[in-house]
Amino acid sequence: SITLDDVTKEFGDGGDAVVAVDDVSLDIEDGEFVVFVGPSGSGKSTLMRMVAGLETQTDGDVYIGDQIVNQLGPRARDIAMVFQNYALYPNMTVEENMSFGLKMSTELSADEIEATVTETAEMMGIESLLDNTPGELSGGQQQRVALGRAIVRDPNVFLMDEPLSNLDAKLRTTMRTEINRLQSDLGVTTLYVTHDQTEAMTMGDRLVVLNYGELQQVGTPLACFYRPANRFVAGFIGSPS
Ligand code: ATP
Ligand code: MG
Repeated sequence: SITLDDVTKEFGDGGDAVVAVDDVSLDIEDGEFVVFVGPSGSGKSTLMRMVAGLETQTDGDVYIGDQIVNQLGPRARDIAMVFQNYALYPNMTVEENMSFGLKMSTELSADEIEATVTETAEMMGIESLLDNTPGELSGGQQQRVALGRAIVRDPNVFLMDEPLSNLDAKLRTTMRTEINRLQSDLGVTTLYVTHDQTEAMTMGDRLVVLNYGELQQVGTPLACFYRPANRFVAGFIGSPS
């Protein structure tokens, strides 16, 4: 499980301070798929980065299981993150991109790493692209590589920050289904940020709605839609009636 306990993140200080995440508390169960929505600047990415250990909260605690991970860097947290821009290494082949994290962080032999990468590449349908560099791939193929690179590390947690926003509508639909299938096959706890209403309503077990860094509602997509907690949620995702 992942627990946020009164987590706050301020950037800057004094009169210039921005409270990016404001006193957020949240419990996420093992294997749960939780979707985060909110306007631009509402703190979604900052929240993901704090869970990943890429940013340190100003206040509050982050738990993975019952361990406080405040002091742990990203490597130690067993979390894989997929970003909007994929962040693939442009000068490495697909195979190198996928194996890089494994080489850095596990005691697997070169043969074991190759076998794991090949198996994951087959699962993602990118086995024929292993010798290509990212620049030679389409957006959808790059997205698959980014997902494959995350999956190959067999993490306990996936963080995905608008992973499909660069794809065309058709591919988004395909990848949406694929992410949901992978997530339930692997049983990985997943935190997923999106601006897309369809993704928000269909992909997750629960929806988290943020505004100005504050939690507005946490509930099933249907509950947020039909029983919005406040006017903001009603306006942002609620039923028009
Ligand atoms: P978007 O939907 O546009 O991606 P978001 O919900 O992910 O937005 P964040 O990127 O988390 O929003 O930003 C939340 C707030 O924190 C914003 O006001 C932003 O300007 C501020 N912020 C984020 N990162 C930094 C930083 N490194 N330094 C200063 N301010 C920051
Ligand atoms: Mg963001």
